[in-house]
Amino acid sequence: MTIKGHCLCGAVHYEIDAQPLGARACWCRDCQRIASGSATVNVLFPEEAVRFEGEITTLQSNADSGNRVERGFCPTCGSQIYSKTIEPAGLPMRIRAGTLDDPELMAPQAIIWTSSAPSWATLDPSIPHYPKAPLPPPAKG
Ligand SMILES: [Zn+2]
Ligand SMILES: [Zn+2]
Repeated sequence: MTIKGHCLCGAVHYEIDAQPLGARACWCRDCQRIASGSATVNVLFPEEAVRFEGEITTLQSNADSGNRVERGFCPTCGSQIYSKTIEPAGLPMRIRAGTLDDPELMAPQAIIWTSSAPSWATLDPSIPHYPKAPLPPPAKG
């Protein structure tokens, strides 16, 4: 089964030939900015299984975790497509769940960086909460 998704305007498409490794919601401050105020919801895949088509703009920054993170987004519509950890290497790629053709693919299994969530955030009590990144190793959305 090939998993597919695309950005809002359709300029960026992707296909994934792997099952998801997990899914998380992230309330770090970086995610709140790119997700317009809420958490990002991210489905994890092995990076080598993800194939992109279309131009993607990337932004690298040092995340709250201390990791070097790259975020990819469509330069036309601004949709966030993925994030991945540059340093340390080897962590799964995080695909932004909203871009999936099927948002039912996998529900978040944990909520991370709850320590920076605003007081009005609604956090599902039925899944684990982590004040920061879960250990090991930290991998932020
Ligand atoms: Zn787009
Ligand atoms: Zn985050």
